[in-house]
Amino acid sequence: MSTSSPIQRRPCVQVRVGPVTVGGDAPVVVQSMTNTDTADEVATAVQVAQLARAGSEIVRITVNTEEAAAAVPRIRDRLDAMGLDVPLVGDFHFNGHRLLEKHPACAEALAKLRINPGNVVLGKKRDPQFAAMIEFACRYDKPVRIGVNWGSLDQDLLARMLDDNAKLPQPRDLAEVMREAVIQSALQSAAKAEELGLAHDKIILSCKMSGVQDLIAVYRSLAARCDYPLHLGLTEAGMGSKGIVASTAALAVLLQEGIGDTIRISLTPEPGEARTKEVVVAQEILQTMGLRAFTPMVTACPGCGRTSSTFFQELAERIQNHVRTMMPEWRKHYPGVENMTLAVMGCVVNGPGESKHADIGISLPGTGEVPVAPVYVDGEKTVTLKGDTIADEFQAIIDDYVRRKYGRAG
Ligand code: SF4
Repeated sequence: MSTSSPIQRRPCVQVRVGPVTVGGDAPVVVQSMTNTDTADEVATAVQVAQLARAGSEIVRITVNTEEAAAAVPRIRDRLDAMGLDVPLVGDFHFNGHRLLEKHPACAEALAKLRINPGNVVLGKKRDPQFAAMIEFACRYDKPVRIGVNWGSLDQDLLARMLDDNAKLPQPRDLAEVMREAVIQSALQSAAKAEELGLAHDKIILSCKMSGVQDLIAVYRSLAARCDYPLHLGLTEAGMGSKGIVASTAALAVLLQEGIGDTIRISLTPEPGEARTKEVVVAQEILQTMGLRAFTPMVTACPGCGRTSSTFFQELAERIQNHVRTMMPEWRKHYPGVENMTLAVMGCVVNGPGESKHADIGISLPGTGEVPVAPVYVDGEKTVTLKGDTIADEFQAIIDDYVRRKYGRAG
C-alpha cells in the first residue's frame, strides 16, 4: 500500500524542539503527555521512556511544584542514560515564572515551554508573569507553545469581547464569540511574545476545544490567520471508543485540509490501560490517512456468520501484536518495513481478494469451507497452510518476508 498522500500541508514556519522539527515540510509529529507525579522522577522517567518507545516523538510533563521542577533535570539525565533523546516539554500553569527562576536547571533540561495564557495568573499580575515566562524562553533559547484551552480561557479577554459584542447592532452568538476569544488569546499572546523578543520561529500555537465542531472551526480560522505551526488536539476527549472517535473525527477533518503540524490524543486511560494507547491512536490516525507510516498495518475483516470460530480474530490480534512488538527491532534493521501491509481474512468471500492487495495475506476457512488457509505474498498464492500450526507458520512467513524484502544489502 502506498502511503503517499494527496494532502497539501498548510505552509508555516519550522520550529525546532530539541532534535525534532515541527512545521514546514516536516512530518506531522506525534506527542503525548505523562500522568505521573513529575516529582517522582523514577516513575516519570519510566513512563516517558514507555511513551517514547511506543513512538511519541515529544513528551510533555507537568511542572507544577518545586519538587517537580527540581526533578526535571534528573528525569532528563535518566532518559539520556537510557539512550532516549526524546524532547521534554514543561507544562506550566500559574507559577511557572517562580519555578523557572528558582530552578534554572529545569529550564535547561526542557526542550520547550508550554504556556497557557489563561493560566499565567489571574488579574493584574498576568502581563508581568507572561513576560517573565517569555524572558525565560529567550534566555534559555527554548521554543514556546502558547496553548490556549477552552476550559481555562483568559476570562478578562472573554469579558471584553462579550462587552464589545453586546454593543454590536447584531451581536454574534455566544459560541461564536467564545471561539473568537480562544483564537484571539492565542494570536495576541503570540504577538506579545514576539514584542518581548521571542523569535517568530520559536512559537507553536494550540487552541484546544472539547467539541469536535468547535475545534474544527477554531483551527480553520487560526490556520488562515497565522503561519505558526499548529499543535492539534481535542482536549478532554474522554475514555475508550468515545475519546478515540471524537479525536479522530476532529483531527481527520483538519489534517485532510493540511492543518496540523503536531498532534496529541488526550485519552483518559481506562483502569489498567497503558498510557501508550494515546500514542498508538495518534500514529494510527496519521497512518490510516496516508500521512505517515509507523508500523505495518493489519487489514482484517470484521467476521460474520461465515466465520467458523474465533481463530481468525485471535490470529489477527496475534499478528498485530507481533508486528508492534517487533517494530523497535525491525525499525533499526529493516528500513521501510513500516509500509508493509498484512491481511488476515475470515473466509473465501473477500479473503483471497483482500489478501492479494496486501504484501502478505491469509484467507482462513469459513464455515463449510475446506479447512485450509491459502497465503498470498506480493499478490501470488505461495502456500496453503492447514492444521494446528497455521498461526506459527504464518508468523514465520511474515518474519522471513521482512528479512528478505527490507534487509539492508550486505
Ligand atoms: S471475508 Fe468472509 S468472514 Fe470476513 S466478513 Fe467477509 S464474508 Fe464474513
